[in-house]
Amino acid sequence: MSAAPGPEARAPAESTYCADHPERETQLSCNRCGKLICASCARKTPVGYRCPQCVRKQQSKFETARWYDYLVAAGISLLLSGLAGALLARLGWFVIFLAPTAGGVISEIIRRAVGRRRGRYLSYVAIGGMLLAGVFNLSLWGLIYLALAASTVHARLRSISI
Ligand SMILES: [Zn+2]
Ligand SMILES: [Zn+2]
Repeated sequence: MSAAPGPEARAPAESTYCADHPERETQLSCNRCGKLICASCARKTPVGYRCPQCVRKQQSKFETARWYDYLVAAGISLLLSGLAGALLARLGWFVIFLAPTAGGVISEIIRRAVGRRRGRYLSYVAIGGMLLAGVFNLSLWGLIYLALAASTVHARLRSISI
């Protein structure tokens, strides 16, 4: 009877190989997802070694908006929301159906105008523009328009507001 090591005896050793390069042995692992990474896969970050996937995921959350994107977002929402609010407030209760649509159109125009760049405060700036325009349109339906359209814009712009 020979006591040759079975495959189960070797199993723990296999788990010290890089997840993307099965032939490379490594002691490093990503400190975010725990995946094993070899020296060429590891990315040194201020918080330790990470795998390329986690680094990429992190980078997509970075601010990419330029300063003028905020001006563009504020200007568009001020102008368009001012117009939409003034028009829709005259329609009475129809505003309940049309305000979210107007908010959707306004956010789509803003998204395109800023080249889909991301900014931490873009949705707040857009809502600020809408509120400013709303000051000139103070009426019951004007306020209802503002509440519905602004919440739509906030929800739609969340994807570019990090
Ligand atoms: Zn990772
Ligand atoms: Zn590797």
